[in-house]
Amino acid sequence: MSVKVRFAPSPTGFLHVGNIRTALVNWLFARKMGGHFLLRIDDTDVERSEQRFTDGIHEDLQWLGLNWDSEVHQSQRFERYRIATEMLAEQGRLYACYETPEELDVQRKMLAARGLPPIYNRAGLKLSVEQKAALEAQGRKAHYRFLLTEDAVVWDDLIRGHTQFRPTHMSDPVLVREDGGPVYTLASVVDDGELGISHVIRGEDHVSNTAVQVQLYQALGFSVPQFAHMALLKTKDGEMSKRLGGNDIRALCDAGIMPMAINSMLARMGTSEAVEAFADIVPLVESFEFRKFGRAPANYDVLELQKLNEKLLHKLAFDDVAAQIPFADEGFWLSVRANIKALAEVKLWWDIVHGEVSGGLDAEERVFVSGAAQLLPQEPWDDATYDAWIAAIKPGTARTGKALFMPLRKALTGQEHGPELKKLLPLLGHERVLQRLKGE
Ligand code: GLU
Repeated sequence: MSVKVRFAPSPTGFLHVGNIRTALVNWLFARKMGGHFLLRIDDTDVERSEQRFTDGIHEDLQWLGLNWDSEVHQSQRFERYRIATEMLAEQGRLYACYETPEELDVQRKMLAARGLPPIYNRAGLKLSVEQKAALEAQGRKAHYRFLLTEDAVVWDDLIRGHTQFRPTHMSDPVLVREDGGPVYTLASVVDDGELGISHVIRGEDHVSNTAVQVQLYQALGFSVPQFAHMALLKTKDGEMSKRLGGNDIRALCDAGIMPMAINSMLARMGTSEAVEAFADIVPLVESFEFRKFGRAPANYDVLELQKLNEKLLHKLAFDDVAAQIPFADEGFWLSVRANIKALAEVKLWWDIVHGEVSGGLDAEERVFVSGAAQLLPQEPWDDATYDAWIAAIKPGTARTGKALFMPLRKALTGQEHGPELKKLLPLLGHERVLQRLKGE
């Protein structure tokens, strides 16, 4: 069977980690199976859908490297949904209802008060032609519901395993709104069916939609796709996540999180495999399997993402980052990568090495560093130069440990933290080091 999957975001906001996990899992499965990844823009809600969010979806997927093979917009398929509703009406599976949202709410509350589930009472189904005409004469407009049959809905979920629903425990879903617009429940099935979707992979919050949609695929004569419902992500909305600007992908990008850190984290979270930092997506494609996904919600913590991002950063080759740090060379990258938390810091260190620094040393420290300047080894310098220099300084000073190296670090970088001095020394070079030690 050829695999065709879809990622179907609504362009009513920017993508967040939850959406991206769904996109990524669809993408990984498609790529692993040599299948097709369709991007479907769920923009039937014309009022809430915005072009800037569709643009954002494109940009974020591209940034993450999740390329799509084709794209459809639901707003261009209204005619297909209308034809589908006609088909359902002809089969007697679509019926008009006239309750207002307020009336439905009252009904639900009354059921709840009696300890009963909030299932629609099918009042619309019992209306005669005259009663409908009378309601319409009062100015009421019909919305349309799909008549579920009593047949149990059963599917073998690729993550949840055997899943069963009894339609008698569900409300007939609304498929067409009062304004004639199709509801997602219908549009999604028509698209999946007509576009030949083989696997529907989405969050567990859609399980109850699946229960009614299975009957809908069948009523419309489509073969029912396979389903995989992922346990949801639990996000800790801690301080850090606020500091990073929330869980939107673009906020993470702005905070210096790299695409492969996000992909590495989201591909493995909630699975039996350990989360590891991958610089390349191929191993994630190769190791992808539905059976590795657990049923328990996965904990998403932005602090862990940040740590993973650092791990990834520390092992990236110059080629992986060269385009983002065009000012730097390979030697510079290899010297600083182990001590940075985000790629943006490379520029900071570049400027520290090549620009002006102020050490902020006290008088005693000044005397010490200018003495140390006399003992600098001859060039050429390499990773061993710093140790040779310190070995030359030690016999002439009572300073040890931090008291010895901190004034040197401050004089050379103007900072108390940063890349190892033994790496920085060759980058700075003899002339600059001498100047900085002398406080010139
Ligand atoms: N637009 C729907 C959503 O974002 C798509 C759900 C689906 O995958 O069927 O929740």
